[in-house]
Amino acid sequence: MLSKVQQFSSLQGALDALFGSGTKVVQAQYTAGGDINEARRLTLNNGMPVFMKANAKKNLAFFTAEAAGLAAIAHTGTISVPRVLCCGTDDAQGGCSFLLMEFLESGKRRADYWEALGRQLAAMHRADPSAWTKGGRYGFVQDNYIGASVQENSSRDHWVSFFRDCRLKPQLAWADRYFDAADKRNAARLLERIPELLAEPAYPSLLHGDLWSGNVMPGHDGCAWLIDPAVYVGHAEADLAMTELFGGFSPRFYAAYKEAAPLQEGYDRRKDLYNLYHMLNHLNLFGRSYLGAVRRIMGEYV
Ligand code: ADP
Repeated sequence: MLSKVQQFSSLQGALDALFGSGTKVVQAQYTAGGDINEARRLTLNNGMPVFMKANAKKNLAFFTAEAAGLAAIAHTGTISVPRVLCCGTDDAQGGCSFLLMEFLESGKRRADYWEALGRQLAAMHRADPSAWTKGGRYGFVQDNYIGASVQENSSRDHWVSFFRDCRLKPQLAWADRYFDAADKRNAARLLERIPELLAEPAYPSLLHGDLWSGNVMPGHDGCAWLIDPAVYVGHAEADLAMTELFGGFSPRFYAAYKEAAPLQEGYDRRKDLYNLYHMLNHLNLFGRSYLGAVRRIMGEYV
């Protein structure tokens, strides 16, 4: 179902194959905003702009996973994502891995930008996700990354056990190095309580997986485009909860989403628990300054 992204063993080889031999990069401008990768706008000698993300050569899997995620979202036909051109590695200047995709010129938001995004996300969450898991209803056909951390996507039949086993458990185990005795007790207790705290969704949904405002861009058409996903099939609430974590989404977005896909009773009680996953990941990737937030959320549920 997932068509594999084309891979090349040099950037020049990729440009030759995609745009004709002799294609050259005439300008490479750094783009700010990414946490993990180096991002550049390449201008080709035919005048075309291309967006390139680069990382260490050993991290090519970041980009094959990102390409698979963008392809899954594109397949739902509900919300725009940049078209992936290819990925690969290059040995020049110490070596790198790269992902090439359509360059999105950012535009002015349409008047109904937020309402449309709410409806489109609800439609994505309602699309049939059965092609994206194997052997269970929740998970994804391959592991991927949340930031630079591996995100385990082995399938489960139940959302509650998927979220416990594949989301909280690995991050809590990794965060153990920051935990004192009380934190360790709370972490163990929290895992025991997950079946009482979470609920099965009415339907499984393909999630963006890392849906903070920095991963939604207004495109040239004035509509929202999704970038940098960490997709999996899960409970739609987890995507919505993340939109609330760092803010930046309009109340009009939530109103439109809820009208198109009413929320399950009790979402407000569960949302911090979903976001605990992202806070633990921040603690594990960026350090101790996130420990207070992790403790506060664990304290809410134990
Ligand atoms: P990272 O994986 O490092 O978090 P992102 O995918 O978030 O990187 O990209 C970094 C920044 O580059 C984004 O915040 C956005 O401004 C810009 N960007 C991402 N994708 C595109 C694209 N296809 N076209 C133009 N700009 C993009």
